[in-house]
Amino acid sequence: MPRTSRPQSYYDDIKTKFKEERDKRLTYRPPGTAQYTSELTGELEKYSTDPWRKEAPDREPINDQVEVLFIGGGFSALLTSGRLHERGIENIRIVERGSDVGGTWYWNRYPGAACDVVSYDYLPLLDEMDYVPVNHYSRGPEIFGHCQAIARKYNLYDLAVFSTTVTETVWNEEEQLWHVKTNRGDDMRARFVICANGTLAKPKLSLIDGMNTFKGHAFHSSRWDYEYTGKHLENLKDKRVGIIGTGASAVQIVPELGKTAKSLTVFQRTPSSIDVRDDWPTDPNWARRLQPGWQAKRREKTLAAVEMSPEKRAELDALTPEEKVRRQENSNINHMMRIHKRIDEIVDDKATAEALKPWYMFMCKRPCFHNEYLPTFNLPNVTLVDTKGKGITEIGERGPIFDGVEHELDLLVYATGFEVQLTGIYNSIVGAGGQNLQDKYADGIRTLLGIHTAGFPNLFIMGGYQASFQFNLTDMLQTQGDHIAACIDHVRTHGYQTIDATEDAESWWVQEVINHRGKTSRSEDCTPGYYNFEGAENRRQDGNYNGGFRKYFQHQGEVRSDMAQYFHLGKVKGEAS
Ligand code: NDP
Repeated sequence: MPRTSRPQSYYDDIKTKFKEERDKRLTYRPPGTAQYTSELTGELEKYSTDPWRKEAPDREPINDQVEVLFIGGGFSALLTSGRLHERGIENIRIVERGSDVGGTWYWNRYPGAACDVVSYDYLPLLDEMDYVPVNHYSRGPEIFGHCQAIARKYNLYDLAVFSTTVTETVWNEEEQLWHVKTNRGDDMRARFVICANGTLAKPKLSLIDGMNTFKGHAFHSSRWDYEYTGKHLENLKDKRVGIIGTGASAVQIVPELGKTAKSLTVFQRTPSSIDVRDDWPTDPNWARRLQPGWQAKRREKTLAAVEMSPEKRAELDALTPEEKVRRQENSNINHMMRIHKRIDEIVDDKATAEALKPWYMFMCKRPCFHNEYLPTFNLPNVTLVDTKGKGITEIGERGPIFDGVEHELDLLVYATGFEVQLTGIYNSIVGAGGQNLQDKYADGIRTLLGIHTAGFPNLFIMGGYQASFQFNLTDMLQTQGDHIAACIDHVRTHGYQTIDATEDAESWWVQEVINHRGKTSRSEDCTPGYYNFEGAENRRQDGNYNGGFRKYFQHQGEVRSDMAQYFHLGKVKGEAS
């Protein structure tokens, strides 16, 4: 039974258009991620230089021992530290490339930076910090400040090491400790190591011919040069500015540049879907009435909300798989057509409005929410250069070239995104028996819950693949942080030295991941983007666990309730429980 009044042919025609747009992009692009580079060295080094770096004081290499060492100082490390503190573990070190904590919110300080997830859910440890965010959606500086406040509360600055990159993490069998080596000559020992380096941490650039010949100023969106633009972009009033990319970063930057630059040219390859951003200042009366533990209760509700009622489940189970897919796709298309309609209502110029319409299923790319992005294209100083899926492939001395036209610019911003960290690790990790983790993963990622990997005792991975995917990443990170803190606590309170996933437990989880792989719209049918590895084929197990967030959470609980079944718990060297 069709559920809408539209004929199926309406939906089929739109699906055909989706496919055409996807196929067009795949033929234009080099396959997979090869079109990008995140090796920003040599002439490209300036695109990764830290503009916020407080000159790190010269220091002697560190050669000491801590209980828990985090590689990375973003939300993963901060919220897990909170949980470790609750269990009396305070000997914690963060090793971080930037010169402060904050991760994404340390690096991304571009104008307009904000989070699209409701602040009361996104900001972690609000109960513990006794803090209520200022708005329904938080701006970047507030989130960065919250990160710093967490670090202060848990004394994380005491042992933290900044402006330092971990290069090697090696398990020492004799000592039953990890040795963590860095680009500053450190050799730190740690009993537990947590890879908390984020999934989208390294800026990437599209490999465009001639980009180094450009004579104007250029930088990546995550390395905003306020010295050039001025703190409030006031230096741009006589500048011709261009931006390559129209993803979530650009969607927030474009309105700010549109308001301030003499001219703004937006170079688009694929439009984002832009929905309403329903923001408001936090009601002080509501905030005052909040009871202790309010955020934890909100999270519980989130977990409960994703569970389907038995009636709904039965209704769905009664459908054929084809009918299920058809209904899902039709309602997805309805949503995307509403996004299209909104563009027609807001954007004055018909050709520009057409060009801004995304032709793919909802969630093929990260959905964006902004009230000023679309109206910006009505401003007289703003031009959209729609490359119709082709992208900018050439840059000359004066600016990007498209269709034989060189667009002359003073400033070019690359909002071209970040390398996707598939494995959740960046440095070389060598576990028991001298095995390198990358070698272990050569035929496919192998983990338990995306967190543990057999043969790498006392090592935990946060935010990597084989874990659940959540639009609100901190929900997912919080469950991982809780789980990891509980595992470490179990080891310590039961007098164990080590915790290491068994091969059986790992095989079970890899199979769980494979079994659920088909259940996602982030598939090869989608237009290329980082969600689907730029349209490249990938191995069945190299992706997220798609069994659902609640199920992922439940599996974590099952594992913790029978540690001895899922882990080798070592008392002394070589002796397993
Ligand atoms: P994305 O990877 O999402 O976007 C990169 C953009 O660059 C795409 O529009 C891409 O086009 C475009 N591009 C790449 N090469 C070219 C080229 N040669 N010519 C023209 N365009 C090109 O990166 P973002 O930094 O925007 O976002 C990354 C992620 O960070 C988000 O998905 C989100 O998870 C997070 N984020 C969250 C925010 C929030 O909460 N609001 C804000 C900002 C970021 P194409 O689509 O065709 O590949």
